[in-house]
Amino acid sequence: MMQVFMPLNFLGFVYREMKGALANIERMFELLDREPLVNDKPEAPALKMNGGTICFDNVAFGYHPQRPILNGVSFEVKPKQKVAIVGASGAGKSTLFKLLFRFYEVSSGEIRIDGQAIDGITQKSLRGAIGVVPQDTVLFNTSIFDNIRYGRVDASDDEVWHAIRLAHLDQFIERLPEKEQTLVGERGLKLSGGEKQRVAIARAILKQPPIMVFDEATSSLDSHSERHILAAMQEIAKEQTTLVIAHRLSTVVDADNIIVLDQGQVVEQGTHEELLEKQGHYSALWLVQQQSQRQSLQRSQRQADD
Ligand code: ATP
Repeated sequence: MMQVFMPLNFLGFVYREMKGALANIERMFELLDREPLVNDKPEAPALKMNGGTICFDNVAFGYHPQRPILNGVSFEVKPKQKVAIVGASGAGKSTLFKLLFRFYEVSSGEIRIDGQAIDGITQKSLRGAIGVVPQDTVLFNTSIFDNIRYGRVDASDDEVWHAIRLAHLDQFIERLPEKEQTLVGERGLKLSGGEKQRVAIARAILKQPPIMVFDEATSSLDSHSERHILAAMQEIAKEQTTLVIAHRLSTVVDADNIIVLDQGQVVEQGTHEELLEKQGHYSALWLVQQQSQRQSLQRSQRQADD
């Protein structure tokens, strides 16, 4: 009986909160950049998952026909692999994600999941198979515990706690004034960017989609927060096919494959070691990031000495 009541109860709270949190919802749509630009084909079947292989096959795309953004993009992500997309700002990383969700149609080429072209299946089944950890997570005005349960509304308390531990949020929650019942969101406790991302990770762990896309926060995180996020991401990547837009290269060192995008084209791909050896785009990006990390470390050491 509890199993029936819990989701209804939860949906009740979601409804009440949604009414009061229209700004949040609007922001969520903004974040997803969701525009109803594509329709399902008549009688389109649902996606049939079989491991979670993602294939971008010679994909080209532009938001406007006269301005191509992606050109001849091809790569494959095998089941349970962790693949990172890196590249300078404006290279087209987020655009790749939007195409995977089919918020837009590709101009040419094809995106397939487990061999099925994503424009031939229902959008509902496509999006149901993909979990997202966005840069900025929407929090509802309720307890942190219910915010996490939002990942799967019929999850038991034990399952929510399990996700909390895997997302490395347990110690943080332990220190909150009212522990897991502490209110968060606009009217409650404000969480840092790193804490919000861990809430999103816990939700994703609960949802257990076969494919996970992770848009790493651009804002700088302290090393403590970054360590926790990395550990939580590793938990996800063990079980799911994971695609990460990475802004800090330190988080992709362990990726099975790193795709380097430059001006809408894949210019290199390989593991961290392979790409460093090539001494091309990736190694140049790596050197720049290492240097700026060293500089900020020196700055904070000087401030501590003063
Ligand atoms: P960043 O690291 O800064 O997030 P990115 O690599 O994710 O950058 P995209 O957001 O994919 O890059 O953008 C690629 C290009 O597409 C940019 O030139 C951007 O201005 C353009 N672009 C992105 N979204 C839209 C849109 N909705 N309409 C028109 N152009 C867009």
